[in-house]
Amino acid sequence: MSRPILARIDPAAFRHNYLLAKARAPQSRAWCVVKANAYGHGVLRCAEAVRDVADGFALLDLAEARILREAGFTQPILLLEGFFDVEGLLEAARLDLDVVLHDESQLRMLEATPLPAPLSACLKLNTGMNRLGFPAEQCPGLLVRLQQSGKLAQITLMTHFSDADGEGIDAQWTRFTAQLPAGMPFSCSNSAALLRFPQTHGNWVRPGIMLYGGSPMPAALSAESIGLRPVMTLQSRIIATQTLVAGDTVGYGSLFRADKPMRIGIVACGYADGYPRHAPSGTPVLVDGQLTRTVGRVSMDMLVADLEHLPQASVGTPVVLWGEGLPADDVATSAGTVSYELFCALAPRVPVVQA
Ligand code: PLP
Repeated sequence: MSRPILARIDPAAFRHNYLLAKARAPQSRAWCVVKANAYGHGVLRCAEAVRDVADGFALLDLAEARILREAGFTQPILLLEGFFDVEGLLEAARLDLDVVLHDESQLRMLEATPLPAPLSACLKLNTGMNRLGFPAEQCPGLLVRLQQSGKLAQITLMTHFSDADGEGIDAQWTRFTAQLPAGMPFSCSNSAALLRFPQTHGNWVRPGIMLYGGSPMPAALSAESIGLRPVMTLQSRIIATQTLVAGDTVGYGSLFRADKPMRIGIVACGYADGYPRHAPSGTPVLVDGQLTRTVGRVSMDMLVADLEHLPQASVGTPVVLWGEGLPADDVATSAGTVSYELFCALAPRVPVVQA
């Protein structure tokens, strides 16, 4: 028998979450954000789950876009960072992709390169994130220049919020709307803005994490309370047990010391599987469907669960690291990270099966 770890992906849950996102922004179309191999869930698997209902897909890599086109997806596909060279621009045109334009170098390439047909593009304005995008105040001049280029069939104005999940969007929204010509299509909302700020929905919303069942702001709003379902369940089994006496320690660095006799279960899942090494003792874990905690440092191939209230647990007992029954947000919060990182870090050595 092979090592008992696997990730179960539930396409029906992904579809449910996408339809929920659309229902929360009923006047808009929704880019289904499947970058980074669908946040670690498998780009084709997720796209297939929404083939007949997805308005469009948003991703970064030409390779991922090619996978979707070759699988017969005809919806718009948006390249979130656009293209990086003329070859990339021409390939985007060949694949009939929408491109994000965020930098002068891209505009020059666009102006200088003959294209088989006009493209659809998002013009990305920097309104405060200070990552990608033209200074918002350059918008009127850029729009004139793009129109004069004759290379674009459709232009959507775009920005990305830095604090939609926290402080809010006020300053960025003001800066953006000051530049938005009346009636021009726009796209601003990630999951947090989609859920919190309906005024930002515009023509296209861009939900990502909520499609995978993660809350964009788990401290304020649980995924369950939003109505989201987990898509990835990382599961394994106990492969050994140990009985400790008071004073015994567990794992590298002896970070956990038993203060009374206790039984622990060794679980086949470690940081080489994508489990966060910095998750401290006390991180929630489900053993045999029952909530317990990790103890000691996560090692490469194993972590350790407290079996205090699980007398029935033994070698072979099923364990859920996150997913069905244990929100990834709870594990991420304990580990001081976000569910995005847990999902994206799933290691290639973990077999993935479809629920
Ligand atoms: N739009 C852009 C430009 C992004 O970079 C991302 C993700 O980082 C998203 C939308 C989706 O964001 P979220 O996963 O928070 O919904």
